Amino acid sequence: MSKKHGKHHRGHKRDDGMTGEADLHGPTVDHRPSTARWAGSVDAVAESVPAALGQHGPVPIRPAPGIVAVEPGAPVDLGTVDPDDVGGLDKDWAKDALATERERIVALQERLYAERARSLLLVFQAIDTGGKDGTIRSVLKGVNPQGCAVASFKVPSSEELDHDFLWRYHARVPGRGMIGVFNRSHYEDVLVVRVKGLVPDAVWQSRYGRINDFERLLVESGTTVLKFFLHISKAEQKKRLEARIADPEKHWKFDPADLVERKSWDAYQQAFADALGRCSTARAPWLVVPANHKWFRNYVIARTVADTLEAMDPRFPEAAKGIADLTVPD
Ligand code: AMP
Ligand code: MG
Repeated sequence: MSKKHGKHHRGHKRDDGMTGEADLHGPTVDHRPSTARWAGSVDAVAESVPAALGQHGPVPIRPAPGIVAVEPGAPVDLGTVDPDDVGGLDKDWAKDALATERERIVALQERLYAERARSLLLVFQAIDTGGKDGTIRSVLKGVNPQGCAVASFKVPSSEELDHDFLWRYHARVPGRGMIGVFNRSHYEDVLVVRVKGLVPDAVWQSRYGRINDFERLLVESGTTVLKFFLHISKAEQKKRLEARIADPEKHWKFDPADLVERKSWDAYQQAFADALGRCSTARAPWLVVPANHKWFRNYVIARTVADTLEAMDPRFPEAAKGIADLTVPD
């Protein structure tokens, strides 16, 4: 290596032990984001991103009463959570209360969108018929669709399978200002994939740690992560499948494969328990929702979402100076 080169390398040594090779000749690509909010020099962007997060910090997750938060590091026994639990609530009361929670969500979402600094990711996992679609429809009713993006994850395409397992999920996480909803999620890769033996054991076993790292990255990047497991009983699944068979308007929802999957009920419960236990962290805890009663499920989830948004405390950005004195010409 020439003397000149050696000098350059010493001059660009970084804290992470790597050298700043790419910086030697100045930036060749303009990395500036296109949004007005972040417009400025590369340095200005680098400074404002950590500042935006440092100002707010991660939000403590406080689930509504009746939801069971999984203690980080503790083994999970789903048999100890009663799917029929309604927390002593009255159905009519909960319906009115749900409307109030929705109003809170709508108002806070507008602020989150306007602030455009952080985001909220809602993850929904459940056994087939567990109520993911119904929950999303109910809890997000009235939310401005422009500030909300739902990603429903199905059997991976061949392009998705050509990448690492997190690729397709990472591509759909909410950007600043957005509420993102995962209808099924990266957890499928330690659930259905495990139960059906789609990859060798060592592969899905290695994924719990990768999932925790992924979620830590999201939280540290300004995304609050709420993970809901909708907990129904085997008898309730039977009722819901029978209802889909009995009602012609629900036939479209009936998937004969669900009857095959039902035979693996115990294996799924074990896979859920392990995923919840291995991937409940202080910053992104798993929340077990007793979900046999839809009205209870919808209310407690809506309340948790509203309380979380409130804890995030999104603010409308400061108005441009002198805006109140402006007049609009005829
Ligand atoms: P549904 O949500 O009922 O429309 O069904 C989607 C299907 O995709 C379910 O049977 C899931 O188990 C399946 N699925 C979702 N993610 C994965 C994955 N990563 N690998 C294999 N199957 C998956
Ligand atoms: Mg289905």
